[in-house]
Amino acid sequence: MFRKRESIEIKSPPQIAMMRQAGLVVATTLQIVADAIRPGVCTKELDALAHENILRMGASPSFLGYHGFPAVICTSVNDEVVHGIPGPRMLHEGDLISVDCGAIVEGWHGDAAMSVLVGDVAPEVAELSRVTEASMWAGLAQARAGGRLSDIGHAVEGVINEAGDYGIVEEYVGHGIGTSMHMHPPVPNYGKAGQGPHLKVGMALAIEPMVCLGSSEVGVLSDGWTVVTSDKRYAAHWEHTVAITEDGPWVLTSLDEIRL
Ligand code: MG
Ligand code: MG
Repeated sequence: MFRKRESIEIKSPPQIAMMRQAGLVVATTLQIVADAIRPGVCTKELDALAHENILRMGASPSFLGYHGFPAVICTSVNDEVVHGIPGPRMLHEGDLISVDCGAIVEGWHGDAAMSVLVGDVAPEVAELSRVTEASMWAGLAQARAGGRLSDIGHAVEGVINEAGDYGIVEEYVGHGIGTSMHMHPPVPNYGKAGQGPHLKVGMALAIEPMVCLGSSEVGVLSDGWTVVTSDKRYAAHWEHTVAITEDGPWVLTSLDEIRL
């Protein structure tokens, strides 16, 4: 997994500041989408809101046209894990929708995702989202110089396993990010600590646990994009882009100024 020759892009502080601008576009867009989520709204309406905001803020969407992806955000509902395509599907009370968004400012990328409860949901579904988000924050806290890449996945996995009997998706992982959305290195959501590349100031990573209520086995629908759980149980997805700075992890895709 950790090929020695592939290097990890190092950003200067001004370049990280540009990534923060892209991150703020993503954060603002996700907030607007979150505010619009309710029973009766359909996922293509959420996509339109996202597109409008990204353009209004002078940025470009990362996902539209990416390997042919037809929308600005990914909307993945219930048993859909990631890469769901917005469309006529209407949200219902009790649904869990994961929204993933990427934006580009001056060539620099931001990438983040959230799971949102639609109205009242089953307690186990709310807990699934809470655990997934908490595992993401544990991973983000490990994005600091002096650590090793696998410290991140180890921390993510630790929170999830401590919380209960969840499935952690292994086929899809986090990634390096900067001048492209998906860059070296892959960032798994599991593993032993103390392995892989040494983390250095100027690296930026997207940390994104995908967690299932049941089995971690997933498949792809015939649309070629939508990843679903094989047992049809719910999955959650949370993601932030983080930069490794002299002062520790800087969460670039949060509306708030968060340095861990
Ligand atoms: Mg994403
Ligand atoms: Mg990502």
